[in-house]
Amino acid sequence: MKTIKPVCITGASGFIAAHIVRELLEQGYRVRGTVRKTPANYPFLLSLPGAAERLELVQADLLAAGTYDRAVEGCDYVMHTASPYEINVKNPQTDLVDPAVNGTETVLESCLKSGSVKRVIFTSSIAAITDEPDSRKVFTEKDWNTMSSLDRNPYHFSKTSAELAAWDFIMKKRPAFDLVAINPFMVIGPSLGPSLNTSNEIIRDIMSGVYPGIMDMNWGFVDVRDVAKAHILAMETGTASGRYLCSAETMHMRELVELLKSSGFGSYALPKIDLTGKAGTLLMKALSFTQPKNTGIYIRTTIGRTMRYDNSKIKRELGISFKPVKESLIDSVNDMIKWGHLPPQKK
Ligand code: NAP
Repeated sequence: MKTIKPVCITGASGFIAAHIVRELLEQGYRVRGTVRKTPANYPFLLSLPGAAERLELVQADLLAAGTYDRAVEGCDYVMHTASPYEINVKNPQTDLVDPAVNGTETVLESCLKSGSVKRVIFTSSIAAITDEPDSRKVFTEKDWNTMSSLDRNPYHFSKTSAELAAWDFIMKKRPAFDLVAINPFMVIGPSLGPSLNTSNEIIRDIMSGVYPGIMDMNWGFVDVRDVAKAHILAMETGTASGRYLCSAETMHMRELVELLKSSGFGSYALPKIDLTGKAGTLLMKALSFTQPKNTGIYIRTTIGRTMRYDNSKIKRELGISFKPVKESLIDSVNDMIKWGHLPPQKK
């Protein structure tokens, strides 16, 4: 067994967190995960190999101050992944920003109180780096999203505000623990639980006729299993510090559709019309007003722009190598079919 002390992970039921739990158990760690409902609601976690002996689930809520005291007690390492990941919410302040920011402060307060915590690994996002690709720029960990607000990409705003609050906490309170942030881009891959994650949902929508045409958009993709490894490497690598942009390659929507076609998924309702030119972009900007409010804003701040970033820090300092996006994408699709999020392929 690797540790006597458990590694605490908040939001253990989440898409990314469940993979961290699986990987930690596989590597021989003891794990204490926080969940919102009673543990019996998470059979997919309780049945993981090693869970019976080394996984403990405790209840906690980001909006209830003090509920993380018991979860982090006696731990050296805490991974704070819990945060709402939703694009279209009724009230951005109470549905996104409050749990993200107050929740982060609550978890860090509990770590401070514990007296045992040595490092907190914070799951941030590319959303805290930018919400607007800029074709002339290569984004790095030095960049901060200064554009988002409650009215513009509120999910991005919640992640930026939460990461800023975490660094502010470290600066002001000078705790005995340090902070390392992981900033993933679009996380895809198989899910251990039955829920459909927002990032895989985008792939599902592309395959389900939600988008009329191929838009001039590109994203950075990263496999959920690599994101889990990055969190563990950030914990194990003593010299790890600061932020880590965590993403493999970027892929344009056109390449993504081609890849899905050539991988045998051509019978799905993939977008057919090429809307990647200037006229198409203008049309899509106009049509974006017919989408749910925040999806529309996201399209308008992203379309017609090329996202580029530098992922060399995480490769160099944490020694991570990323799975090819093609592999992750195919695994995502097959997994969504398995869970019933996508209909089976027509023969
Ligand atoms: P997810 O599957 O939706 O997981 C979110 C987790 O947060 C769930 O465990 C959820 O618990 C928990 N949570 C939400 N509100 C909570 C509250 N009020 N109290 C306690 N727990 C709460 O999303 P994910 O993709 O794994 O995201 C995990 C983290 O990675 C988030 O911080 C997200 O911003 C970040 N991230 C995700 C991506 C991506 O592409 N997926 C990319 C960059 C960063 P319930 O199960 O009870 O709802």
